[in-house]
Amino acid sequence: PQTPSRAIFPPLNFVIFMKKHGVKLTTVLTTHHHWDRAGGNEKLVKLVPGLKVCGGDDRIRALTHKVTHLSTLQVGSLHAKCQSTPCHTSGHICYFVNKPSSSEPPAVFTGDTLFVAGCGKFYEGTADEMYRALLEVLGRLPPDTRVYRGHEYTINNLKFARHVEPNNPAVQEKLAWAKEKYSVGEPTVPFTIAEDFTYNPFMRVREKTVQQHAGETEPVTTLRAILQEKDHFKVPRD
Ligand SMILES: [Zn+2]
Repeated sequence: PQTPSRAIFPPLNFVIFMKKHGVKLTTVLTTHHHWDRAGGNEKLVKLVPGLKVCGGDDRIRALTHKVTHLSTLQVGSLHAKCQSTPCHTSGHICYFVNKPSSSEPPAVFTGDTLFVAGCGKFYEGTADEMYRALLEVLGRLPPDTRVYRGHEYTINNLKFARHVEPNNPAVQEKLAWAKEKYSVGEPTVPFTIAEDFTYNPFMRVREKTVQQHAGETEPVTTLRAILQEKDHFKVPRD
């Protein structure tokens, strides 16, 4: 499902960027095997010999270090804990990262599992698995965790969220904020887990308003129904 045109940061530019900023590249945390996530790994390994490439799937290019749910990694002064979130792909890993010596809130890199107000497509999994990934794994991280997602789908996601919950003020506010960000050419990261629970319909499948929109009474069937609906949703031009 991935095309090379999505590459935004070629490996060589990345290495030049790191050198310029005096950063030593030691470890690559790969969320999943898709081209737009792992496509640069082989070149990076050639440019930086000895590089450790982590991931939860043998299909990840140049993988040197296989991880599983709750595996821990030390990257410089950062501590990473792997969160297995199979569904978009069967080996998808999100990385929960914190700096033990600091009071800064933690961060999570969610690849193609969680986006602002949306979630990834179920290429290799079920609604049950996405429910577990979103609500029981990512949803249980500290509420102030800053989320860095894989794709900038924010405005379209929020227009769908508005369609699901037209009377949710959190959706309206976030959409206005995202449009402002786009107008000055800025990305919509990071956001927090707590914030996403207020406007992301896929995180809100336990709410009555979302269930009623889907015509369902259970969170998992609601999740399945709204994902199917989103696949055919015509995004309004406003
Ligand atoms: Zn993907």
